[in-house]
Amino acid sequence: MHTIGNFIAGSFSPAHGGRTINDYNPATEAILATIPRSQGEDVERAVNAAHSAQDEWSKLTLEQRAHWLDKIADALEHKSEQIANTESRDTGKPIALARRVDAARSVSNFRFFAEFGRQQTQQTFQMEDALNVVHRSPVGTVGLITPWNLPLYLLTWKVAPALLMGNTIVAKPSEVTPLTAHLLAETLLELELPKGVFNLVHGLGPEVGQAILEHPGIKAISFTGGTETGRIVARTAAPMFKKLSLELGGKNATVVFADADMEKAVEGAVRAAFTNSGQVCLCGSRIFIEEEIVEQFTRRFVEKVDAIRVGNPMDEETEMGTVISPEHLLKIESYIDLAQKEGGVILTGGTREMTGYNGPDGTGAFLRPTVVGNLPHTSRCATEEIFGPMVTLHTFSTEQDALEMVNASEYGLAGSVWTSDIERGQRFSTQIDSGIVWVNTWLHRDLRTPFGGVKNSGVGREGGQWSLDFFSELTNICIKDSDEN
Ligand code: NAD
Repeated sequence: MHTIGNFIAGSFSPAHGGRTINDYNPATEAILATIPRSQGEDVERAVNAAHSAQDEWSKLTLEQRAHWLDKIADALEHKSEQIANTESRDTGKPIALARRVDAARSVSNFRFFAEFGRQQTQQTFQMEDALNVVHRSPVGTVGLITPWNLPLYLLTWKVAPALLMGNTIVAKPSEVTPLTAHLLAETLLELELPKGVFNLVHGLGPEVGQAILEHPGIKAISFTGGTETGRIVARTAAPMFKKLSLELGGKNATVVFADADMEKAVEGAVRAAFTNSGQVCLCGSRIFIEEEIVEQFTRRFVEKVDAIRVGNPMDEETEMGTVISPEHLLKIESYIDLAQKEGGVILTGGTREMTGYNGPDGTGAFLRPTVVGNLPHTSRCATEEIFGPMVTLHTFSTEQDALEMVNASEYGLAGSVWTSDIERGQRFSTQIDSGIVWVNTWLHRDLRTPFGGVKNSGVGREGGQWSLDFFSELTNICIKDSDEN
């Protein structure tokens, strides 16, 4: 166990008042670290440090900042194994997944934005008698608040474009998974990033998170987390006219048409349902199956789910680790109970039992991947975000029928459609209320594309140009030609 500090003005320090919070490993329930339980005073210090660094950082050229991003990517790449290991212990996710997804993407977020930044050209609009030049400036000090499911992956997805565009940062990772954010701070210290450019304050959402939202010196908030917290963020920050990006919850649909390649659709639906124990905001937790193939699809889907190896996150062969915490496990189990009360049938899973590892004393937030049939698509289990390894199966008879069921959700983040008729795939995708739709694949990401949701899944887009737009202010400079010309 170790004690980690806030990272403010280039050095580590405890919280104002010295209070701490324990950080646990959800597989063993051992304490991994204590973190500062920061308060408004810590945010104040972090904002002051960021403001002091703003001028110097924003005066660098885009190329110089892109070079910084490359240096950070190299340093993180060097620590890939440490990142994967830390993330696996902090979240309970399989080490192989942490390596393939979390560590790799944390590096590529910096590399991608460095390269993307270099490709930018100044936008101009020529008139008959004048030239418009679009000038980008940094927003200033920005607040970045992130969740526990993909800790460093999602934090770096915001840090990289924010730094690139010349902003200074006050970041707050989830109190449940603070370790890789600390690792990033250590890395930036080693690289000697100018002091105060990146500041990290740890602690509880309603305390330190709220202080970030309320601080008048923070000009933009990029938030990823739950929809209910998103409402608080909007309620607090919008009246202050802060720029806001809200990446919130989801209840995504996987739609399987009868003409889909069965093998690929089953494989894709299982991956979409249970990657990271179903704790990816993009996970497909409602599966809609065309009636001709319901029996066949369900049998093969359940067989494949049964074969998922749940176990010790540190074991290379493990395919699914724990959920994030014992409290979250209880929440998911309450939905399993509810599913049965609502008339659902557990087709597989629903229990903590499994072969293999259950933590040293049979502890650990492990749950078998759970598939529920026979529930109406309007039931609570099929409409509320559970954010765990539990999915519901539903049947549809026509395209229209499927569309109505998919759109009968207050969320609209992502979805996947499985069909061999690409025209139908495209047509159907445009009618889903959703920010992202995959056809015959899932979580296939090009970092240049817009990422974000509609309805209760959020406001705004991240990715490529959209991230650069969020993290910069635009000034249009209209220059009139001189009369001699
Ligand atoms: P959460 O909303 O509980 O917490 C997210 C962050 O907000 C944490 O750092 C938390 O400490 C902070 N927070 C909590 N209360 C706050 C307040 N009053 N003011 C400021 N900050 C506050 O979410 P979580 O449980 O950590 O993550 C799971 C949720 O995140 C799920 O709903 C999931 O769908 C969503 N998510 C969305 C995306 C996306 O891109 N749309 C990606 C990942 C996760």
